Amino acid sequence: MAISDDVLVIGGGLAGMTAAIAAARGGARVRLLSHKASTLRNASGLIDVLGTDPGGHGPLADPFDGLDALPQEHPYSVLGEQAIREGLALFDDLLGDRYLGAHTDRNALVPTHGGTVKPTARYPAATAPGLASFGTETLLVGFESVTDFDAPLAAAHLETAGVPFEVRGVTLPFPGEFRADARVTRMAHALDEDREVRADGPATGTRATLADRVADHLDGAERVGFPALLGDEHGEEVREELADRLGAEVFEVPMGPPSLPGLRLEDALEAALHEEGVRVESGNPVVGYEGDDRVETVTVERVHREVPYGAEQVILATGGLVGKGIRSSRSGVREPIFGCHVPQPEDRYDWFSDGVFDDQPYARFGLRIDEGCRPLDDREGVEFENLRAVGAVCGGYDSAREKSASGVSLATATVAGRRAAECL
Ligand SMILES: Cc1cc2nc3c(=O)[nH]c(=O)nc-3n(C[C@H](O)[C@H](O)[C@H](O)COP(=O)(O)OP(=O)(O)OC[C@H]3O[C@@H](n4cnc5c(N)ncnc54)[C@H](O)[C@@H]3O)c2cc1C
Repeated sequence: MAISDDVLVIGGGLAGMTAAIAAARGGARVRLLSHKASTLRNASGLIDVLGTDPGGHGPLADPFDGLDALPQEHPYSVLGEQAIREGLALFDDLLGDRYLGAHTDRNALVPTHGGTVKPTARYPAATAPGLASFGTETLLVGFESVTDFDAPLAAAHLETAGVPFEVRGVTLPFPGEFRADARVTRMAHALDEDREVRADGPATGTRATLADRVADHLDGAERVGFPALLGDEHGEEVREELADRLGAEVFEVPMGPPSLPGLRLEDALEAALHEEGVRVESGNPVVGYEGDDRVETVTVERVHREVPYGAEQVILATGGLVGKGIRSSRSGVREPIFGCHVPQPEDRYDWFSDGVFDDQPYARFGLRIDEGCRPLDDREGVEFENLRAVGAVCGGYDSAREKSASGVSLATATVAGRRAAECL
């Protein structure tokens, strides 16, 4: 007999976790099945809603001002503005004071490790003092072993971009003995524990040693930006101590993979799943289903056997081409578990445009959904009456170009989770 729940969520990324929480808050008994780690640990940890218009021009001052220009198949156009607000409200409630930006509809402008400025709707508290809208003189500090963040180059890019503040960059050795390819988490833990560092003189803590090294380069800067590795468990304490010692504000610059802000967000959402009573199983893929107009059971592949899981409602949150929720091959693009329709040009040569900066059709590949997030077939009918799709598995939008990835995940997840619980 199949293991049975009210709502089954397939996929453990931002979309799957928030959909599961929304369904649990609606009173459903929820199980989340996930194969591997999600893309969150590679993500910046920023929550973008809409940063540019559909042509990639921006930044948009207010993401909600850009909604009318979106195509009708865009998930925001299908679900409406209220869904985005509902998604953000759930996120704000779950993350509390660890994230900022809820006080306004306006996008914040966050300097990135590449020296660009990113329009975003929610950002970690650790990033807040670094916003580009503040005109305070800034020093960016990079570390020799963190090659993803070239602080002098990022500062030069920011100046070229015309930010309203003076900015300089310096690269320093991180205090202590680390391998050249040390992970950022090792440095974060050294700061968390304030590990003793033996330099030329008497031993001092990692935090004091770092502050001393930076102080020599401060030269009047009122804020100092570091790559996002300022502590893991005790980040706030680390930032406060560095700020006290430097007499300047201290902030983190969001980084690429592996990303501590992304990992912190993942940890916070996993704790929330636990608090809401969601059962979580990970490590095995969902490979198929039984059913006709309704999904009756889904099949999980375990070692040597396949196990059926039943539910009244099923939420598909398996990600896009990166998360493996959408697969492409020479014969076409497909959704591998339920075989849901993925609109695509017949000729493979029409998947791409020649120019690197052109609008790329493949970036919009994914499932089309109705206003309850149910995937649509090739005749615009629903594929299954009890299946809903959320996050990057949905198509009709180009998240990288328009900067909308997490906003779409949150909006679709809250609608799908709520509607799934209402249908029980
Ligand atoms: C490098 C990077 C940077 C990013 N930066 C930003 C940013 O700056 N701002 C922003 O707003 N967003 C950003 N994002 C996007 C954001 O983090 C999420 O990727 C996005 O919201 C989509 O999330 P998702 O939950 O739909 O998919 P994913 O995160 O891809 O999660 C999919 C989940 O489904 C599971 N899965 C897949 N197939 C199966 C199966 N058959 N059975 C069981 N489980 C399965 C996977 O193991 C995974 O857990 C970034 C993403 C990346 C990768």
